[in-house]
Amino acid sequence: MEQITAVVVGAGQCGLAMSRALARRSVEHVVLERGRIGESWRSERWDSLHLLTPNWMSAPAGHPYDGPDPDGFMSCADFATSLERAALADRAPIRQETRVHSLDADGGGYRLVTGRGDIACSSVVIANGACGLPRRPGFAGAVPAGILQLTPQDYKRPADVREGGVLVVGASASGLQIARELAAAGRRVTLAVGNHLRLPRRYRGADILWWMDRIGALDATVADADAIRLRRLPSLPLAGYPANTDLDLNALQDIGVEIVGRFSAIDGGTAWFSGALANACASADLKLSRLLDRIDAYAAAVGQGAGRPYRLPATRVPDAPRLSCRLRPDGVGTVIWATGYEPDHAWVNLPVFGAKGGIRHAGGVAGNGLYVIGLRYLRNARSSHISGARLDAEVLADHLAADLARSAAA
Ligand SMILES: Cc1cc2nc3c(=O)[nH]c(=O)nc-3n(C[C@H](O)[C@H](O)[C@H](O)COP(=O)(O)OP(=O)(O)OC[C@H]3O[C@@H](n4cnc5c(N)ncnc54)[C@H](O)[C@@H]3O)c2cc1C
Repeated sequence: MEQITAVVVGAGQCGLAMSRALARRSVEHVVLERGRIGESWRSERWDSLHLLTPNWMSAPAGHPYDGPDPDGFMSCADFATSLERAALADRAPIRQETRVHSLDADGGGYRLVTGRGDIACSSVVIANGACGLPRRPGFAGAVPAGILQLTPQDYKRPADVREGGVLVVGASASGLQIARELAAAGRRVTLAVGNHLRLPRRYRGADILWWMDRIGALDATVADADAIRLRRLPSLPLAGYPANTDLDLNALQDIGVEIVGRFSAIDGGTAWFSGALANACASADLKLSRLLDRIDAYAAAVGQGAGRPYRLPATRVPDAPRLSCRLRPDGVGTVIWATGYEPDHAWVNLPVFGAKGGIRHAGGVAGNGLYVIGLRYLRNARSSHISGARLDAEVLADHLAADLARSAAA
């Protein structure tokens, strides 16, 4: 069996950041990738998607953006290409088209079964993504036969969706963007809205993520007590549209999207929606207002920010939002579950899973020689963003290298 000191599973931004950090510490390693470098960005996103983080926040580790449009938003294909270039420049030891089928403990280390043979190693870094599996509620199985069900991974373009009505479930970045694209293509779209966040693309002369970066909103570290709650927070409802267009429920209603409450049950082919739509919207407006308060306080303290503070109009909620709709091939014939994602760790045969099903870890350290990177709130809010990969990789590579040195000295 092949022996290698460390194996990194996955060549996305986190796997590449980890490889670079390990190389700088002279740790022998390989990166195993089931497809091509940046595969998730090539095959698991829809065609029109551009990154929601501006270019200055979207560079591979060690290769800061130096193009002509730092405030623009890259397409997914361009981002995958930037990862490929970074890997080439770093001479990263990547084995593409090499899927890891299983990971088991073996002696004092680990054994990986891959599509190209088995590997024994002392350390493993699980970097196969936070969003490998789209989540669906348990009652999705009760959707009548004949209704097309898609996830944001299956959905590529409006032509994938049948003529007629579409129910998009979930009002975070994926659901909002897909609902907008379908409405713009002339589809009748109903959007089921549960717990969500609201953000303007720009505020007082700068991108909202620039402000969030400045006030440290992305860097607050996770206290243990908060970790589970934070990891389930909705994702940032932003889009990388060229005109910096806002992606919120008011903008969607302006183009004809009907909003209803959280999709909470199915009964005999009828979808039932929560009556708490107004509460969910008020809560998102309140959280936004608190964030803008923090930004204004920071702007006042450091003398930044164009113009005076202002607030967005409240989210408009219909007087009597619909509480149900019939799912029928000749009516609402497609349901798109944009209800979040979870990592795919089914191949990890180790006793490291907590009661809620996720890998237990402390800031990415999951056991002796076992690490995980790229997950939501791994160390902070930035951890599952491109801009968090380098920082987390540095910390984990320090830990991994020190661990190897200790074992060698023992
Ligand atoms: C729709 C969407 C849009 C997003 N937009 C942004 C954005 O604009 N800005 C931002 O900062 N973040 C964005 N994110 C978040 C970010 O991409 C994720 O958090 C990402 O999972 C973190 O990077 P990663 O390298 O860990 O994962 P990934 O980029 O998913 O890389 C994981 C790699 O592992 C490989 N892999 C998976 N399983 C195996 C296996 N068994 N064996 C070998 N290889 C395997 C995959 O092919 C993939 O290449 C977005 C996420 C989604 C879902």
